[in-house]
Amino acid sequence: MKMFVHRGQITKVVFGSGTRSRIPDEADALGCRRVLVLCTPGQVHQAAEIRDRLGAAAAGTFAEAAPHTPVEVTAKAVTHARTVGADAVLAVGGGSTIGLGKAIASRTGLPQLALPTTYAGSEMTPILGETEGHRKTTRRLPEILLKTVVYDIDLTLTVPAKTSVVSGINAMAHAVEALYAHDRDPVAFLLAGEALDSLTRSLPVIRWSPGDGEARADALYGAWLAATCLGTVGMALHHKVCHVLGGTFGLPHAETHAVVLPHVVAYNAPAAPEAVARIAQALSADDAASGLFDFAGRLGAPRALRDLGMPEAGIEQAAELVMRDCYWNPRPVNPTAARALLTRAWAGEPPGTSPGTEHRRTDPIIEPSTITGARHA
Ligand code: NAD
Repeated sequence: MKMFVHRGQITKVVFGSGTRSRIPDEADALGCRRVLVLCTPGQVHQAAEIRDRLGAAAAGTFAEAAPHTPVEVTAKAVTHARTVGADAVLAVGGGSTIGLGKAIASRTGLPQLALPTTYAGSEMTPILGETEGHRKTTRRLPEILLKTVVYDIDLTLTVPAKTSVVSGINAMAHAVEALYAHDRDPVAFLLAGEALDSLTRSLPVIRWSPGDGEARADALYGAWLAATCLGTVGMALHHKVCHVLGGTFGLPHAETHAVVLPHVVAYNAPAAPEAVARIAQALSADDAASGLFDFAGRLGAPRALRDLGMPEAGIEQAAELVMRDCYWNPRPVNPTAARALLTRAWAGEPPGTSPGTEHRRTDPIIEPSTITGARHA
């Protein structure tokens, strides 16, 4: 066996049905007496229930969490937290709300708890993505790791079926890239494989029966495992492409992951045989990339960037940005490959295995050893 380094998680995880009833005890265990509940405007009802459960230990609700963590919203939330004398923040929601909690923590040092309601996985990572103007930046800050994450299956029952599917594929993307991460270890490989098994099993059930409790439990379990991978090993080309598309063209986060994933897997397949074999096994498919493309299609997930609002003229700019500070990737990336991959994804074509083999002579080839390893969501 090769030498490896494994990073353990410090976050306490509580998982099950009805587990939100434990929130007051979990806050108390952290010594928190004035917990500020965070949510988006769409989740005020779920947040109000949690605030009521906290009773005297609640310092109120801040219900303005927004996609991509705009710094103006964070500034307002920090002022609010100080005004009400909060000694902790509790995010009730998806990646946007959890991102706000991390942004507040990075500025105040307040401890965080979360009740995640999507499969995005931010709750298990030390990564903070923020937007200022139209620019999204990400930082890795070990000090913003959450203290306690309470997964309550019941809170995911209200996520619409289509949103659940794309959010689940977003989680699958974390697992896929963990399988070929430059710093993967045997534990991350096991977690990623198990995450893919859970999500490929449960998402088709949720698509047609969103109220199926067992499938919801399976999906949330898979999302947690995938999130753990995201928090412990580096991500590669897929996350770089999605980061560029979200930050530059404002494309929706989970949907973008769903479109891009089969194309990156097709591109990386020749350099990551063990990973693609495990992905194909989870999908019961002969080929990992076309298996992912078919899986997304069967579940009604978007398959073309143009359907998400990306202009065709943006392909060139996106390819350039993907090459800038490119994350480590198992297969060297060049501008021709990036363009070809984005063109296919834009048009919604099936993934191809060829891009990159026909790079122009003038294109610089970026070898993995010259690229900084990435640890971004
Ligand atoms: P989101 O948090 O924006 O949620 C999507 C929508 O679903 C929101 O309108 C929300 O109110 C709604 N929703 C969530 N749960 C619901 C429920 N139970 N019932 C009904 N509606 C519900 O989207 P997301 O995909 O969870 O997160 C995306 C964001 O998270 C992006 O900004 C992304 O960059 C970030 N992210 C960060 C990391 C990280 O490690 N830093 C990891 C993954 C994602």
